Amino acid sequence: MQQGEDLQQDVHIGILALQGAFAEHQVMLKKVPSKRKIVIILVRTQDDLASCNALIIPGGESTTIALLARLAGILEPLREFAKKKPIWGTCAGAILLASAIENPKKGGQELLSGMSVTVARNGWGSQVESFEAPLEVEGLRESERPFHGIFIRAPVVTAIHTTPSDPPIVVISRISTSLLPSSQTIVSPDEDDTDPRDPRTIVALRQGKHLLTSFHPELTKDNRFHEYFVTECVFPSLLS
Ligand code: GLN
Repeated sequence: MQQGEDLQQDVHIGILALQGAFAEHQVMLKKVPSKRKIVIILVRTQDDLASCNALIIPGGESTTIALLARLAGILEPLREFAKKKPIWGTCAGAILLASAIENPKKGGQELLSGMSVTVARNGWGSQVESFEAPLEVEGLRESERPFHGIFIRAPVVTAIHTTPSDPPIVVISRISTSLLPSSQTIVSPDEDDTDPRDPRTIVALRQGKHLLTSFHPELTKDNRFHEYFVTECVFPSLLS
């Protein structure tokens, strides 16, 4: 047990439940073994959000989630939340977490600016170009066992723009360029085809307490990413 940690206290993890795969996240999170009791909150209002120690933003449609968040009056509270507490964004949730976007909805779309990355919406192409690929992920339990990445109109990380005062970005998974849909043309200059110089190969990264995955761990039966978020992002943030 780490200093300052109260194992008796429940941990409240919210899942933004306005649109998208929030029910799937709920099922996965319930299965995470934890030394502290995890209380799952489906977040739809500012009060729901206020009771959370951390938040998951699911995949779905980022423009719809942002619109519904504005209508529910929780867009600003979400931005404030991102400054203090851990958020994990999956796919559409990753878009919301970003601070800049390429190919936004016509007229622009709102972001939470929780992470210093630019993402290209639908960057790997349309629904028919959705794909699945095995991923190596650093820090995951049994990390030698690949994680099954499901990419559905996924965003692509196109730039990282940390300033000296930002927490550093830690890339925990890159996709092999040979596994991308054939329409994609990231040409790798070296033997190892996870090109470390091209941000577009990044599919999972951390910045401070936040986690971003451009794919959908909640659509698998493997809850190692949910476990990772709880142990690596949520628990440490309770001590600070
Ligand atoms: N392309 C979608 C968006 O713009 C994300 C797709 C997804 O979450 N599977 O939000």
